[in-house]
Amino acid sequence: MLSIEDALDRLGEIVTPIAETEHTKLVTAAGRTLKNAVLAPIDMPPFDSSAMDGYALHDSVLDSGETTYTVIGESRAGHPFTGVVANGQCARIFTGAMLPKGANSVVLQEDVRRLENTITVSPDETIRHGMNIRFQASDVAKGKKLLHQGQILNDFHIGWLAACGVESVSTSRKPKIGLFSTGDELQDPGSVLLPGQIYDSNRISLQQLIRHHAVEIVDFGRLPDDQEITRNCIDQATQEVDLLLTSGGVSVGESDFVRPVVEEIGELTFWNIALKPGKPLAVGLIRDCVFFGLPGNPVSTIVTYLLFVNRAIELISGANPSRPLKLSAILTNDLHHSVGRREYQRGTLWKNDSELSVTTVLDQGSNRLTSFAEANCLVEVPESSGNLVAGSRVDVVLLSDKTNHIWSV
Ligand code: AMP
Ligand code: MG
Repeated sequence: MLSIEDALDRLGEIVTPIAETEHTKLVTAAGRTLKNAVLAPIDMPPFDSSAMDGYALHDSVLDSGETTYTVIGESRAGHPFTGVVANGQCARIFTGAMLPKGANSVVLQEDVRRLENTITVSPDETIRHGMNIRFQASDVAKGKKLLHQGQILNDFHIGWLAACGVESVSTSRKPKIGLFSTGDELQDPGSVLLPGQIYDSNRISLQQLIRHHAVEIVDFGRLPDDQEITRNCIDQATQEVDLLLTSGGVSVGESDFVRPVVEEIGELTFWNIALKPGKPLAVGLIRDCVFFGLPGNPVSTIVTYLLFVNRAIELISGANPSRPLKLSAILTNDLHHSVGRREYQRGTLWKNDSELSVTTVLDQGSNRLTSFAEANCLVEVPESSGNLVAGSRVDVVLLSDKTNHIWSV
């Protein structure tokens, strides 16, 4: 059995990032991967401006020692004052407005007394050079790197790029991901189940998980347990997509045709991972299409997706690998585990005073999607661990539809 880390390394060796570049408008760029670094086209902020509502003036001590200034104009956001503020003068200024020439500090309106067209600064207030001013380029200077190549753009990046005046970015083409489920027993939700049938949940689970990436999904439907049909359909599909996922048919049963087909028309890179749930995972290359034969048990399908397919999508998109995000929590129940495979158990995480606590779902059967109904995390039980007792400290990974990051290593 291959360790998860070795399997991820081997995955890295077979995936080639997409070479094609597309110019993508900012409004549709969230989730896309930057093909090049983005440099700031302007200084940010583009001019010295006020951080507060108040009065713009120069910090030099007035000859008279007076703290009374004549208001000579007004600078509002988008409407700069075009005059020059001389000694003994000030301009009314509002948040975000351009600092007038001659001024180098802003006194808050609460710290002055205004009388007609003069203000008197409170004696408690010291006027300091630069106070309440956002200086030009203090956030980023023109030409500096805003974001790195390989960055997956999130909602926050988009706003930041817009603030800098970026209208479009060059991104990798969206990967095309194809999906099949396999199994004679599968039926569509909404249809009546005949004896021996179950509803196909894996294909829709995978679609939901994948759609959090910027990808194109091709739903190829279901495959019967028939080697020739499986071969022909997989062969055909791999010519259309960058990454093909199947679920089921990947063990060593009589009707498990997926792995033999990959070996026949492509190259199997690895199979059998020291992972629970999700041991029988077949990964390989069919021509230049990356192939994943995910296990059929629905919980195994999801866990192997989170661990491996997420990483593959990142690699194909040319993205920098995301950092693992794990939390440490105290287990509230005993947990059964045998040494050998790393296990991910569904659990509920909550904050208990200052500590995070986690309780695992009782029945961890890999067929039981019910376990996800209550779970908000996966508890990671290391390969080397035996049974764990309540009070043990464990690593957990949050389950949320925004948790499309790699969390195994
Ligand atoms: P298999 O690996 O094909 O033997 O499947 C293992 C288990 O997962 C069997 O109980 C299958 O009926 C079930 N299974 C396979 N594919 C799906 C699917 N798409 N949706 C729900 N259950 C499935
Ligand atoms: Mg099957």
